Amino acid sequence: DAALSRAKETGKGRAVVYSPGDQGPPQHDISLEAAMFNAVREGEFLLYYQPIVNARSRIIEGFETLMRWKHPTLGMVPPVRFIPIAESNGLINLLGAWALKAACMQIRQFQEVAGRELYISVNISPRQFRSDRFLTVLDDALALSGLDGRQLVLEITEGTLMIDPTHAEDILARMVERHARIAIDDFGTGYSSLAYLKRFPISVLKIDRAFVKDLPSSTKDAAICNAILDLAGHLSLSVVAEGVETEEQLAWLDDQGCHYVQGYLTGKPMPANVAVTALKENLYTALLPADHRTGKS
Ligand code: C2E
Ligand code: MG
Ligand code: MG
Ligand code: MG
Repeated sequence: DAALSRAKETGKGRAVVYSPGDQGPPQHDISLEAAMFNAVREGEFLLYYQPIVNARSRIIEGFETLMRWKHPTLGMVPPVRFIPIAESNGLINLLGAWALKAACMQIRQFQEVAGRELYISVNISPRQFRSDRFLTVLDDALALSGLDGRQLVLEITEGTLMIDPTHAEDILARMVERHARIAIDDFGTGYSSLAYLKRFPISVLKIDRAFVKDLPSSTKDAAICNAILDLAGHLSLSVVAEGVETEEQLAWLDDQGCHYVQGYLTGKPMPANVAVTALKENLYTALLPADHRTGKS
């Protein structure tokens, strides 16, 4: 089975503990944890970039940075497997600091190619957010890259805000001082009240893929997306719909007033050099009439 073949691939002399059935991320993946420390030294972690596009024009407005781990024998280890481990052993602080700096530098190159301003959206884990060094890392990333804080979006989840709301309030205020914007990732899937939208200086809501994948046929998902768009409109927040895979989903979201989308339809997460090509092509594609763009006539 898959777990066994993966255990074999891991190689000789390593203790591998896979949970029975291997559903979801393993809880005690000792070999993976050991391999991670090695991977940091070997530089096996990479950043991929996924376009965030204007739903109407399809012009790329920015990119979300998504971490990848390219293991020499295991291949691509997905973030759902290694991020929780890094979060529990603290390695996320190191990886997150690297990702933030690298992403801020990378967006400068993307801007040169595009000849216009773009933004970069970076995921910040709960532990990273609570780290004493977080603001220093943020300042270093901005200083090193010369990027304006306005071009930086930090993606956090509802859960991150709820762990210690008083501390979160303080950190967010300092992010706002740097003009960085705050996005709520996976919006609507956490255990929190709407009160935090009043309390914290939030700029962007990212509608989780769970509410997008069955659009437009699911009347419940349509109602939830409409409610989020309505709420965001009244609070002057931007909305990005995640996981948009079909033309029908895009058309529906655009009709309902969702201004930004991100998903396989408009671009999968890709290495920086591929993103450069995508940026060059994007302007031409975006300028074509919709019929030509989608291949419909
Ligand atoms: P996320 O921040 O919600 O990222 C969106 C996820 O949805 C990404 O998965 C992306 O590849 C996937 N996605 C985008 N469009 C589509 C689509 O049309 N269809 C489908 N099926 N999926 C789509 P990925 O890259 O596997 O990342 C998973 C999660 O891992 C992220 O969810 C984020 O929570 C975490 N993560 C990734 N990179 C980082 C990082 O640098 N730092 C931290 N702290 N977390 C990260
Ligand atoms: Mg995200
Ligand atoms: Mg998300
Ligand atoms: Mg998500």
